[in-house]
Amino acid sequence: MPVGRVRKRVPAAFGPAKFSSVNLADYAHNSRVKIITDERCTGYESRAHPERPARIAKSLEKLRAQKELPVSWAEPLPVEDEIILRAHSQAHLARLAQPEDFDGDTPAYPNIAEHARRSVGGALAALEAARKGESAFSLMRPPGHHATRDQAMGFCYLNSIAIAVLQALDGGAPKVAVYDFDVHHGNGTEAILLHQPRASFFSVHQHPCYPGTGSRNVGNNCFNYPVAPHTGRKEYRSVLAHALEDLKASKPDLIALSAGFDAYARDPLAQETLEAEDYYWIGQTIGKLAIPVFAVLEGGYSNDLPVLILAFLKGLDGR
Ligand SMILES: [Zn+2]
Repeated sequence: MPVGRVRKRVPAAFGPAKFSSVNLADYAHNSRVKIITDERCTGYESRAHPERPARIAKSLEKLRAQKELPVSWAEPLPVEDEIILRAHSQAHLARLAQPEDFDGDTPAYPNIAEHARRSVGGALAALEAARKGESAFSLMRPPGHHATRDQAMGFCYLNSIAIAVLQALDGGAPKVAVYDFDVHHGNGTEAILLHQPRASFFSVHQHPCYPGTGSRNVGNNCFNYPVAPHTGRKEYRSVLAHALEDLKASKPDLIALSAGFDAYARDPLAQETLEAEDYYWIGQTIGKLAIPVFAVLEGGYSNDLPVLILAFLKGLDGR
């Protein structure tokens, strides 16, 4: 995997262990979106399961071939158990090493613990890039936002974004907000970040839908925006905008995106109506906030995933 040169300058006020309010608008515009990936994340699949590595392989291919958006590439960072254990129990980590299915949606693939750890490493690398003022996207499998402290569920084994958020808080980020636009409720992220006073969680998702949670706000830091199946595009987008306004009002120093592309009109797993330009709009709206941001891929099961990811990244980069 070629590792691209980083062209963005790092502001002098930026310290290695602390976050500061990095204004992305200050950066030269010929900078790139950094994509973090490891092709081994496409190395497991099951015929009976809707997760298809070909969608990721094709997304990588499209991103490598396109000329419109300069991107740089990086690999996941190695991850210590100590970091994972901020979000998960020791028993869950031990269970992950056992070759037994968790449930019908979450099979025990060979080496799934390694794949899941690499996926966490992708989120951590994306976080590190965001610390340096780059827009970063971890394009890895498995996804993570359903995994709770003690449980793998819904294609998810470890919760990459929650681990990265806890790492950011530990590294000195004053306030971190998660914006989860995957069409399924990020129940695991909510469960892990609930009552974390410096973290907040904003999730827009179809309800009723998997896993059936997310119909109301929880605690004083988890905000849910359920959308009925078959909601029109315009209305869905207004809910996304409302959630983003609430996120903005929380004045975060860092935004973590659970980027799912399964509210797409032709996604086989949900019944929503978004189009590629809506993902462009999400990226653009968040990019304009001028707050450091990193994203991790959560979902998206249509063959159009490569187009949706590129649209989102172009929006984020302001192109
Ligand atoms: Zn999803």
